[in-house]
Amino acid sequence: MKTQVAIIGAGPAGMLLCEILSQHGIDCVVLEKHSRAHVLERIRAGVLEQSTVELLRQYGLGQRMDQEGHVHDGMKIVWAGRESFFIDVKKHLGKQFMAYGQTNIQEDLFLAAEQRGAKVLTQVENLQLMNLTSTHPHVTFTHNGDASRLDCDFIAGCDGFHGVSRQSIPPHLREEFEKEYPFGWLGILSQTPPLRDITYANHPRGFALASMRSPTLSRYYIQVPTGTLCEEWSDDRFWSEIKSRFPKEMADEMVTGKSIEKSIAPLRSYVCETMRHGQLFLAGDAAHIVPPTGAKGLNLAVSDVFYLSRALTAFYRQGMTQLLDEYSETALRRVWSSVRISWYLTNLLHRFPGGSDFDQRAQEHELDYLKSSHHAQAALAEQYAGLAFESSSAPIT
Ligand SMILES: Cc1cc2nc3c(=O)[nH]c(=O)nc-3n(C[C@H](O)[C@H](O)[C@H](O)COP(=O)(O)OP(=O)(O)OC[C@H]3O[C@@H](n4cnc5c(N)ncnc54)[C@H](O)[C@@H]3O)c2cc1C
Repeated sequence: MKTQVAIIGAGPAGMLLCEILSQHGIDCVVLEKHSRAHVLERIRAGVLEQSTVELLRQYGLGQRMDQEGHVHDGMKIVWAGRESFFIDVKKHLGKQFMAYGQTNIQEDLFLAAEQRGAKVLTQVENLQLMNLTSTHPHVTFTHNGDASRLDCDFIAGCDGFHGVSRQSIPPHLREEFEKEYPFGWLGILSQTPPLRDITYANHPRGFALASMRSPTLSRYYIQVPTGTLCEEWSDDRFWSEIKSRFPKEMADEMVTGKSIEKSIAPLRSYVCETMRHGQLFLAGDAAHIVPPTGAKGLNLAVSDVFYLSRALTAFYRQGMTQLLDEYSETALRRVWSSVRISWYLTNLLHRFPGGSDFDQRAQEHELDYLKSSHHAQAALAEQYAGLAFESSSAPIT
C-alpha cells in the first residue's frame, strides 16, 4: 500500500487529523491496534476549550456537539467549608467551554470517516515504523493475519502514551520531563443531571470534582490513594464520599444514580521533547500527558493536530517545509502552557500525602488570594481557557 500520510492510532488525534487532511485533499491511512468498538467504548475526557469547539465546527464536526453539548462559562472552586468562588472565563476573556464527551467526538469522527470512505484499518498488530530519517519511510504491520507494508511520505504518531511511535525516536534524541503524583482519581459516569457549574473541591478528605458531559450525563471524581481498587468502591460508598467533600447545599443538590462507568486514573505529567524525528511527527498523548485537573489532554491533542495539519497542507500545496520544521517548537509552546496550568491546579486543589502544615497554610493562602483578587482570577481564567492557536509564521495560499 502507498499513501501520503500514515496515521498511527484512531483516537481523537488520529481520526481528527485524518478528517482534516482528507478535506484538504491529502491521502492518508489510519492504522489502529484495537477494534472500532473498543475505541468507541473508552470513557475519557469531555470539556472542550473554545478553540477546540471552533476547529470541530470549521471541519463540519460540530452539528451534534452543538445540539447535545452543554455550554458553560468557567469553573467554580470550593474548599473546606468556605464560600465558593467562580473563575469566570467568559467575563475575563469572552470565551466559553463545551461539555461534550470524548466518546461522542470519536463517534462523530468515525461517522465522518465512513461517509468520506477514509481508509481506517483496525486491529493491526506488530506495527513498526521504518526508515524515519529517509524521505521514504514505511510502516510494517500484520492485518487479518497477513504481513503488510505501507509506504508514505510522512508518519503521524497519534498512538497515545503507550504506543510505538515515541519509542521509535532513538532515546538519545528524546528529552523527557516527567512528574508522577502520589494519588489517582476514581471517576464515575452517571445518567443524572449534573450540578449547574463544573466545581472543583479542595477538602481535608481529598480533592473532588463535579463535572459533566451533557445536560443529562454527569462525571464525578474523587482523589484516592495510589493502589486503590475500583472494586472497593460501591456506588453508595462513592456518593457518600463525594458528598462529604462538598459544602452541604451542593451535596444536597447532587442527583445520585447508578454508575454506568467507574474507573481509576493515575495522575502524571509527561512531555517528550522533541515531537519530530525525521519524517515522524508525534501528536496528542503520544508526546505528552497531563493530569486531568483542568481538562487539557484532549484539547492538546486537538491543538497538535491543528498545527500538524496546517504544516502538512502547506507542504503539499506549496512545497513549504518551514511549518513542518517549526512544528515541534510551536506545538510545545502550547503543550507547556497546559502542562503548567494542570500542574498548578493539581497542586492547588489536592491534599498531598505527607504534606506539612506549612504546605497546607500556603495552599489555603493561595485559595484566599485567588478568591479575593480580580487579577489572579483573570490570570487563571486566561490559562484555563487555553492559549489561542498561533497564526502561521509563513503565508499559506
Ligand atoms: C482514563 C482516562 C481518563 C481521562 N480523562 C480526561 C479528562 O477528564 N479530561 C481530559 O481533557 N483528558 C482526559 N484524558 C486524556 C484524554 O483522553 C487524552 O488526552 C486523549 O484521549 C488523547 O487523544 P490521543 O488521540 O492523543 O490518544 P488516545 O486517545 O490514547 O488514542 C491513541 C490510539 O492509538 C491506538 N494505539 C496505541 N498503540 C498503538 C499501536 N502500537 N498501533 C496502532 N494503534 C495504537 C490506541 O488504541 C488508541 O486508539 C483521560 C485519559 C485517560 C486514559
